Amino acid sequence: MRKFFFILCIFIKSVLCYILTMITVDEALNKILSNIHPLGSEKVSILEALGRVIAEDSYAHRNIPPLDNSAMDGYALRFEDIQEASQEYPVRLEVIEDLPAGFISKKKLERGKAIRIMTGAPIPEGADTVIPVEETKKEDGSVLIFKAAGLGENIRRSGEDVKKGDRVISRGDRVRPAEVGMLASVGRSFVSVYQRPLVAILCTGDELVDVDGQLDEVKIISSNSYTLTAQVMDCGAIPVQLGIARDHKDEIEEKLRQGIRADLLISSAGVSVGDYDFVKEVMKKLGMEMVFWKVAMRPGQPLAFGTIAGKPVFGLPGNPVSSMISFEQFVRPSLLKMMGCHQLFRPVIEAILREEIRKRPGRRFFIRGSVSFEKGQYFVTTTGEQGSGILKSMVKANGLIVIPEDQESARAGEKVRVQLLDRNF
Ligand code: AMP
Ligand code: MG
Repeated sequence: MRKFFFILCIFIKSVLCYILTMITVDEALNKILSNIHPLGSEKVSILEALGRVIAEDSYAHRNIPPLDNSAMDGYALRFEDIQEASQEYPVRLEVIEDLPAGFISKKKLERGKAIRIMTGAPIPEGADTVIPVEETKKEDGSVLIFKAAGLGENIRRSGEDVKKGDRVISRGDRVRPAEVGMLASVGRSFVSVYQRPLVAILCTGDELVDVDGQLDEVKIISSNSYTLTAQVMDCGAIPVQLGIARDHKDEIEEKLRQGIRADLLISSAGVSVGDYDFVKEVMKKLGMEMVFWKVAMRPGQPLAFGTIAGKPVFGLPGNPVSSMISFEQFVRPSLLKMMGCHQLFRPVIEAILREEIRKRPGRRFFIRGSVSFEKGQYFVTTTGEQGSGILKSMVKANGLIVIPEDQESARAGEKVRVQLLDRNF
């Protein structure tokens, strides 16, 4: 009886220890982000800025468009002349000039006259309305107007796009083609963007070979080397592949030493409690200040985070899906913060769950799901087996269903939160 009690005590103690060393996803994220700081900036041409994050606010130094101009190919005229125009009683106006875009008329438009005008040409003095060419008929030296228009119709006002002094792009905005165009319109050919972090990636494990390496029965291809590299690239950061280290401390140390020259270091696998899990030990030897080790999540519970000489270091779990999802939750926002982005997280939507999900309480679950949009509603189904080595259900997924720590199940028909990984639905 005493022996049983003793064993029970040890069991409870180890369970408590286990739970207490784990921190929540939110705590982990807070701790990580408080150790991450934006990198410096560099000047690049606006086309090279595509996909980068702007490091300065940009302002317009003049109105765009600079002058009131025609929104149509047609006739510039005076509203009072054509108020009564109709199909039966068209108004005849004398055409005194042909005005292409890029030229200013030197004439002042009097009553009873019109100027043929092209889209984008500045509105001549005296004109206040443009009638599209489709509502008119040309007759030598004059034009018949078949339809009235409102005062000022078909005129684009000076500054209607951007006013002088407006801020057109803000620091932290990601540059897309529209931003490139806007920077060009305000006369910026070069712009300051945040530097892209260099991210060193090391995969560890005796069982691993590179994609073209020599396979045998027990070897597996190091897919994490490629998913992690792709994830880094997808964020807009620059990957540095350190290759594969065997489960030998010296080999891991040699590679990690190269890695800490980068801005951020990621290692995959060897971070759990296995007999050959040396990554944490080597990281500590290299001076890592360990911030935490385990996170109450699934997949992806073993995750070491710390800093070496102030640089962030992530020891990600080895299972392919754990590694990807840990990257998604922690490394991606870190890289985006280093790149000065103000939007660090994926969009989260509410979707109606199509099937029941069961889980144990205590950890946040990230379940691979497929989101669809039907009749104004998002729906989500799981993409099959959820084991942390099942990459194919990640391939099918466009979102991660997030089931909170305290919840034990989610019923079919219930609304759940989903992080959208992409918009392919
Ligand atoms: P570990 O964290 O070292 O215990 O590895 C956990 C699991 O992930 C094992 O089944 C490994 O074979 C697998 N694994 C580790 N590294 C990789 C990798 N680079 N690519 C694919 N699978 C991996
Ligand atoms: Mg291993």
